Amino acid sequence: MTDINVKTLLEAAAPLIALAIEEDIGPGDATSLATLEPDLELYGRIIAKAEGVVAGLPVAAAVFQAVDNRIHFKPLVREGQVVANGEAIAELHGPAQSMLAAERAALNFLQRMSGIATLTQTMVSAVATTNATILDTRKTLPGYRVLDKYAVRMGGGTNHRMALYDMILIKDNHIEAAGSIHAAVQRARERYPYLPIEVEVRNFDELREALACDPPLDRILLDNMTLDEMRRAVQFAAGKVPLEASGGVRLGNVKAVAATGVDYISVGRLTHSVTALDISMEVSREPADETDQLRAIIRDAKARLGPRLIILGHHYQRDEVIEVSDFRGDSLQLSRQASETDAEYILFCGVHFMAETAAILAKPNQHVLSPDPTAGCYLADTATLSQAKRVWARLDELLGDADRYITPVTYVNSSAALKAFCGEHGGVVCTSGNADRVVQWALSQRPKVFFFPDQHLGRNTAYAMGIPDDEILLWRPGQEPERGSLEHARIILWPGACDVHQRFRPQHVHRVRAAYPGIRVVVHPECREDVVALADESGSTARIIKLVEASPPGAAWAIGTETRLVFRLQREHPEQLIVPLADIPPFCTTMSRITLGQVATTLEALLDGKLLNEVTVDEETARWARVALQRMLAL
Ligand code: SF4
Repeated sequence: MTDINVKTLLEAAAPLIALAIEEDIGPGDATSLATLEPDLELYGRIIAKAEGVVAGLPVAAAVFQAVDNRIHFKPLVREGQVVANGEAIAELHGPAQSMLAAERAALNFLQRMSGIATLTQTMVSAVATTNATILDTRKTLPGYRVLDKYAVRMGGGTNHRMALYDMILIKDNHIEAAGSIHAAVQRARERYPYLPIEVEVRNFDELREALACDPPLDRILLDNMTLDEMRRAVQFAAGKVPLEASGGVRLGNVKAVAATGVDYISVGRLTHSVTALDISMEVSREPADETDQLRAIIRDAKARLGPRLIILGHHYQRDEVIEVSDFRGDSLQLSRQASETDAEYILFCGVHFMAETAAILAKPNQHVLSPDPTAGCYLADTATLSQAKRVWARLDELLGDADRYITPVTYVNSSAALKAFCGEHGGVVCTSGNADRVVQWALSQRPKVFFFPDQHLGRNTAYAMGIPDDEILLWRPGQEPERGSLEHARIILWPGACDVHQRFRPQHVHRVRAAYPGIRVVVHPECREDVVALADESGSTARIIKLVEASPPGAAWAIGTETRLVFRLQREHPEQLIVPLADIPPFCTTMSRITLGQVATTLEALLDGKLLNEVTVDEETARWARVALQRMLAL
């Protein structure tokens, strides 16, 4: 499958851009020519009108250039970056008539491509706790194949075959004509021995025949099977050949399809039913300096509130938010800072569970505020209190008394309610920096640990402690573990994952090592265990930063964690080579929600005597969550 880069993208886009300009502008934009002075220059900003993933900025820039090469186009975000509603994604300056003439064609490309990237990212997130990879199909707009598939990659998806020439996909009609799966595969291998082969099957007889091919096929496509059939097919194939689910996949069922255990899910609607991302262009005669205005508001509020206010910024926050923060750190460092400060107002620029932790540790006179209470955490949301209670009740039934045999441990990236659940059941909180110490302690209390909610951190920690695979059990809600495996297990894992860190895959490590010989790879332990096993180092965000800071000039690092931090390290350490581990580096959607505008709004309200978006935790929950946190801090 052909790799699409910006060069190939622009080559494919060039005739489409020419067509779009001819179609939309033709002999001239009559309105702009009539109403604007020929020598008038304008400043423009391209603004996202909804949260989404940006794709197609190089194509939009090429449209403006093609219309008038005096237009200066400057992207403000990167391809594949998540943007908030209202965020400026590019700015431009140039002749007014040309800018307005080019606007529609440029936005049409940008909106369509960003729409594809956004839907892809939503699908990829929906299956983040499974092993399934989201694929596109050939159901692209004629002529737009490369653009559509490029946009899928920007959303974190993976490209299926580019066209009929780069992979063999044997479907029912081919099988019918060739006489059997075996005959069709045989002929394909003789004619194109270098092409990968996938066979579509519709039932278990065909699956059996496809699995019997020797050497094994590269992939088998399960065509329009029910969830139950897919589950049985996964068991039947037993990992001999990767399986792809196809047919009728949509947002409402993609998670259930992934949970069957298939390796790939191809989704036609990523490109055949595109909903464009709402993006528009605003122009003015003077350059817009909105960011400077917001900075001034925040500066003024900080001066007026003095030591009564502290702004905490997580490392994954936007640069402009980090700039106005008094202290930056990872979740543990920020919680510590929150518990040590005497400031009356703690403005927490991070996700919800972090602000909750700060509220739990806060003194009675302190108020914790969040610039955006909708900034949750994908990982934390994978384990709710009611789910944990249901599992515990079932473990009570299976083991006799769960509290006697199991210490619940929750990663700090979890809700206050789950922390409280752990506190109440003799359990504890851990961070990515102390998980091994905490799990060691938990196993000294009771023979088993239930580790919430990040399966990868749990497994990576268990491996680092020398606990073998057969003593680790992944709890799958709805699927009863075998009694023997539960009794034998020392570590039981909740099947949660971070949708940012689980995107790093072994091929990223191989690719970056091939591109930069000698480079060292460091990843966060929320990454999958096959990635952590390949990396040179793994550690918390704080440890990754320390490693870079302690490295000499000329050191080379590929970093597998949230992309804003990686780019910041790149800027702050120009004496080293620092690159994101993945070619399409992932951004945390919810961390991206917090904008400078929201920080300014929260502070303006505070100056008016209003506590906007105060984060509170009820006393009973806070009491038990504090117990779990304090158990950790005492270790
Ligand atoms: S990076 Fe992952 S764990 Fe961190 S806030 Fe985002 S979703 Fe949650």
